[in-house]
Amino acid sequence: MTAPELESAPSVHDDTTIPGGRQTIVLHDFGDVTLLVGTGETQQPVLTSSSTLRLASPVWRAMFGQRWAESESSEVPFPDDDVEAMLLVLRIAHLRFQELPQKHGISFNSLLNLAFVCDKYDLVRMVRPFLDLHCWAQPFLHMTDPKTCQPAWLFIAWTFGYSESFDALAKRLVRAVATSDMDGRTIVGVTGGPELQAGTLPPDILESILRVREDALSAMLQGCYACVDKVLQGGVCKVKEMKGHDLVAPSEFQCSSMILGSFLSQLITMGLYPTRKTGAEISSSVNSIQISLRDTKILTIDSHNYAQIVNHGQGLSRSYGNREGIREEYLKHGITSHSTCGEIIDIAAMVHQVVSQMPSPTLESHRRHMEEQAKK
Ligand SMILES: [Zn+2]
Repeated sequence: MTAPELESAPSVHDDTTIPGGRQTIVLHDFGDVTLLVGTGETQQPVLTSSSTLRLASPVWRAMFGQRWAESESSEVPFPDDDVEAMLLVLRIAHLRFQELPQKHGISFNSLLNLAFVCDKYDLVRMVRPFLDLHCWAQPFLHMTDPKTCQPAWLFIAWTFGYSESFDALAKRLVRAVATSDMDGRTIVGVTGGPELQAGTLPPDILESILRVREDALSAMLQGCYACVDKVLQGGVCKVKEMKGHDLVAPSEFQCSSMILGSFLSQLITMGLYPTRKTGAEISSSVNSIQISLRDTKILTIDSHNYAQIVNHGQGLSRSYGNREGIREEYLKHGITSHSTCGEIIDIAAMVHQVVSQMPSPTLESHRRHMEEQAKK
């Protein structure tokens, strides 16, 4: 975190320097409580009015209520809170509007810290008008490209009630995140992009994102193995002919072997075969599995009836000039394409269906919370 520029702050008092620490920022000339925000060298004393604090936040109302007044403590430590974010909310509470950052004047990290403070002390109602007025959140509202996004935006959106933006990013993250193990710890992140850290996310969203992702991966894999089983059951070849009174598929073995072989080699390349996997065992993202499966080439045979080919060849004129048409000519006379047999494995359609039916990872608890926050 970058510290605020205290030198330029108009409310610094020269006569209240704490040895080794920072000068006290006075937000109320007749303040009765000094908040010690942060720890160590960056700890910032801020002289405030306890009655103002009680007005600003229900949490502070409880903290600086009757019992606090009786204890006569004039310094209260806030060691876990970010100095810049606390100063911002305290300035709003003490009507120091001219000292606030201007339009788009807050970095992403500062906005995140502001969200932490607003969530902790229930300050959204007081901060929101300034958030809207100065468009502090606006530059980040449409940050939904998984590679360049900030997953912690989910916390900001959750705190300030930007439910559409929350939902859009959460959905994209479901598809983009991959997992990896590092020192026995599972890292969740976008390949070549940001990592998702539970500490900077709203409750339960990381688990929900991973659950929806895992279910989608499992559904895709089940779809793949169902295709394998369908081919293994036989009856793949659609090119049939009458043999006596029976309609048979003389190329069944060749045809199904080619289709199965090309599909299995793709699954083996992706590490999804011969051991059948579930979504929980996959570290790649939904997007990358989707692309690999979608682009799987299912090969099919051309079967040949040589007697027909010879007959047809003999019938063709020696002066046949347009050679491009020859294959099509033969396909009608002795060579049969089995491309339609390959449609038994319509992996692209299966994958598309799974992805389009993925539910949103936004839980009912998130929606309710954002609805309430948006009303503040
Ligand atoms: Zn066939």
